[in-house]
Order: sequence, then structure tokens, then C-alpha cells
Amino acid sequence: MRIDLHTHSAVSDGTDTPAELLAAAVAAGLDVVALTDHDTTDGWDVVRAARPTGLTVVPGMELSCRWFPAEGAPISVHLLAYLFDPLAPELAAERARLRAERLTRGERIVTALVADGYRVSWADIVERSAGGVVGRPHVARALVAAGVVASIDEAFAGPLHHTSPYYVAKADTDVLDGIALVRAAGGVPVFAHGLARARGRVVGDDAMAAMAAAGLLGLEVDHPDHVDADRVHLRGLAADLGLLTTGSSDYHGTNKRTPIGACTTDPAQFERLLAAGTGSAPFAD
Ligand code: AMP
Ligand code: FE
Ligand code: FE
Ligand code: ZN
Repeated sequence: MRIDLHTHSAVSDGTDTPAELLAAAVAAGLDVVALTDHDTTDGWDVVRAARPTGLTVVPGMELSCRWFPAEGAPISVHLLAYLFDPLAPELAAERARLRAERLTRGERIVTALVADGYRVSWADIVERSAGGVVGRPHVARALVAAGVVASIDEAFAGPLHHTSPYYVAKADTDVLDGIALVRAAGGVPVFAHGLARARGRVVGDDAMAAMAAAGLLGLEVDHPDHVDADRVHLRGLAADLGLLTTGSSDYHGTNKRTPIGACTTDPAQFERLLAAGTGSAPFAD
């Protein structure tokens, strides 16, 4: 059993259509794939309809959140959510708020870039997102197309870096509230790439213990942005806190270089996740 529990389609900031993503999953020999677009469930109906026989698709989402440390600025964190009820009203309202927040914030980033002479256009970026959830990867592609940077990585290392003067933070959900919302919707909250240090500041063990106390059910351990020592640490912490562990690629199509299936989840851990999710069912034969 090959199980990848974290992927993005063009419904958010990946480049594959949901159907293309499923085809890539099959080509990579996956038996199970979760669709976890940022702050939306818009891809769920599409993958349900496009699912090839033999492939199990887990409906999910990656919620944009913040951890508020005792001191200092909030830390951006991502919360994976699986098998929740897509109609649960409070979680649906929070998703909608986050998508609106992304639009205001994206426009502010682009306005500042334009004011400094970069030839990018917010209207073009929104048009190219084709109704999907807009994120910095969309702005990065526009910067590459304008010749400002040579690659998406360069855009993230430069003008879109969180320390860049062009960077604008989003008012993301308090992660403890996010966990409660996902649980209230019957879902399984899993802390995504908790020690992805290259993305910026990461939280401490105290934060993960607080998340567990708030109802977190899992830690994403095997992730392309985690070094081996951090995987060992997270696995130990998950055991101490009674959390399940996952592994996944965080595939974004050509917006990132990681192939689908690059990291995978142990089948016994997947069984724990399935047993905990009551808000919706996997799409399966
Ligand atoms: P945002 O949610 O708009 O702040 O953008 C963050 C998104 O950009 C996350 O989904 C990351 O997966 C993605 N991202 C971060 N760094 C990179 C990178 N170097 N190349 C491509 N995508 C990235
Ligand atoms: Fe992303
Ligand atoms: Fe993420
Ligand atoms: Zn992701």
C-alpha cells in the first residue's frame, strides 16, 4: 500500500487539475491519495467524479493557521484536515474568511511590487488562478513570467520571502481554534510539516503539546522539508503525545520540484486516521 496524504491541485496553488493529479497518483503507483488544497473543499466533487477504479481518494484540506507563542510574533503554521463534513457551517465560514484574506493580501503584495516598477498585474494573476485559491506561488509564477526572477524558488527566496519588504502576512486562524473547528466537523486534524525550518520560524514542542491537548490527532513526520533528525524527533513526540504520524509529498505540480508519492504514510497509521474521521468518507471502490 502506497499512501500520500498531502497534495495540491490547481484548485489552490498546485498546477495539475484534480483529474491530472489523480492520473499522476496512479502513475506513481499510489493506492491512496489525499487532496488537501489550501482553505477549500472545491476539488472534492471533481475528484469524486474523476476517481479511477482502484484508487482511494481521501478528501482533505490544508488550513492556513497561526500559533501565538508566549512571546514574539505569531508563527505561520499549516493544519491538515481530513474526512470532515464539508457543510459544517463554522469551518465553512472560516475557510471563506481565509480565502477572502488571501485575495486582499495578494493584492497588497502585488500593488507594492507594481509601485516599485515590477511588471506584474493583480488582474492577470487572479485570471490565471481560474477561480482557485490564490497564494504566493501564483505571484511567483507572474514574477518568473515578467523576467524578474529566473525561478519560483528565486521568487520565494527574494521578493516573496517572509522577510521581504513586499511580504504581507495573512490573518490566519489561531491553530487551536482551527483544531477545534475540524474536530467539531468530524474531521482529523494533523499538524503539517511542523519542522520545515527553511520556511521560517518553527514552533516548539510546547506548541505541539498544546495542539494535542486541543484535539490534534496527528503529526506529519515524513515530509520533503523535514531533515532526518527532525523526523526522529517528531516521531518520538507523536508517541509521547499519543498522536498518529503521516508521511506525504506536499505535491504542487510544477510549482515545486517534489514528485507525488515522494514520502508516504504507514498503512497502520492510515487505519488510525480512517477510524477517527466521521465527517465524510473516503472516495473508494
Ligand atoms: P501563501 O499560502 O500564499 O503564504 O504561500 C505559501 C505557499 O507557497 C505554500 O503552500 C508553500 O507550499 C508554497 N511555497 C513555499 N515555498 C515555496 C517554494 N520555494 N516554491 C514553491 N512553492 C513554495
Ligand atoms: Fe501550497
Ligand atoms: Fe503547507
Ligand atoms: Zn501543502
